[in-house]
Amino acid sequence: MYAVDVGPQYEGERIRKTEFQVEFGGPEVSHKGELVTVKGHDEVEHDKITVTGPDIKDFAEGVSSALFIKVEVAGEVLEKDLEAVLERRIHQYINYIEGVFHMAQRYDIWIRIHKNAFKKGLNSFEQVGRILIDLFTAELPVIEKMSIEFVTDPAKVQELLAEAMKVYKERDDKLKGLKDEDVDEFYACVLCQSFAPTHVCVVTPERISLCGAINWFDGRAAVKVDPEGAQFAVPKGNLIDPENISYDTINQVVTERSLGETTHVSLHSALTNPHTSCGCFEAIVFYIPEVDGFGVVSRDFVGVTVTGEPFSTLAGHASGGKQNEGYVGIGVQYLKSPKFLIGDGGYNRVAWMPTSLKESAAENIPQELMDKIATEKDVSNVDELTEFMQKAGRL
Ligand code: SF4
Ligand SMILES: [Zn+2]
Repeated sequence: MYAVDVGPQYEGERIRKTEFQVEFGGPEVSHKGELVTVKGHDEVEHDKITVTGPDIKDFAEGVSSALFIKVEVAGEVLEKDLEAVLERRIHQYINYIEGVFHMAQRYDIWIRIHKNAFKKGLNSFEQVGRILIDLFTAELPVIEKMSIEFVTDPAKVQELLAEAMKVYKERDDKLKGLKDEDVDEFYACVLCQSFAPTHVCVVTPERISLCGAINWFDGRAAVKVDPEGAQFAVPKGNLIDPENISYDTINQVVTERSLGETTHVSLHSALTNPHTSCGCFEAIVFYIPEVDGFGVVSRDFVGVTVTGEPFSTLAGHASGGKQNEGYVGIGVQYLKSPKFLIGDGGYNRVAWMPTSLKESAAENIPQELMDKIATEKDVSNVDELTEFMQKAGRL
């Protein structure tokens, strides 16, 4: 029925640089995004698939293009609260398509179409849209109507992205003031086990998922509609490590769902039993032994970090669903959490960040540390960082 096969067996597929026909988003492209909006019943034209701008077949081989995926859904029991959770399914379902790879979320998406899939006839977003609508409505019967628009026109993508950024921010802002201590239940997500079979995300009010797409409210909304789904509730149990923040019930559930790979997880430490990572993290915290501190780098940072390693190499150390002390993948929003790496000393332990990331975290960095965290403009290797830290009186 479709030009290529579709099913969960294709989820772990990777598509290398030399293998893609065309890619959308990713590091080469500044504007990209995806957004799901819940609308009123009469506001959604069911099955409508629109392509605005050049389609897959219109691009020359090897091109990287802008893309915005705009999904609108309606259904009697659908609530606004579910938008983020449904949006995450775009990632899951696109990866079901043979020869199509989707990574990351929100303003960060990266999609590749394999040359073989293109040769088999997957040459239009109309087909991708058809598959997505079929999967969404089959797997989530709460969706009664769905329309989808694929926008590749760069100016329009930029416009849509600006609007979407406001929505992402609203979702994140909802959490302000809510503490881990205030709730009895956390949420876990195992959606990414197709790529990292032992990875379990634990989402708390003060720890957004590492993909940045699922916060505590989203977890709560998800289990309401689909208690057997990839996201599920976990009673937090007893705090057994108040320093690094570790709860007995969370450990138990992580042990089970990681098939025994991870038995202890600290929710707020990169050094002691760190939370595992799949590969979807928006940023990586990495330990720099020479300064006994951390670097933090986000996916959009082009170039090498202070240790000489680019994001992609660090991602290799952090990902795969296995604990690797000194590395932890995080959602950018976690930089704003009052419990940010509290077990390791929080910002007191941060030595290096790229300028843009430091700016976005500025209001959460203690004032006295603002000039004492180096950026790529201050230092370019660990020796220079050591000197910087000494001068700042931090070593
Ligand atoms: S990164 Fe974590 S929260 Fe996000 S989809 Fe994957 S498992 Fe779920
Ligand atoms: Zn993931």
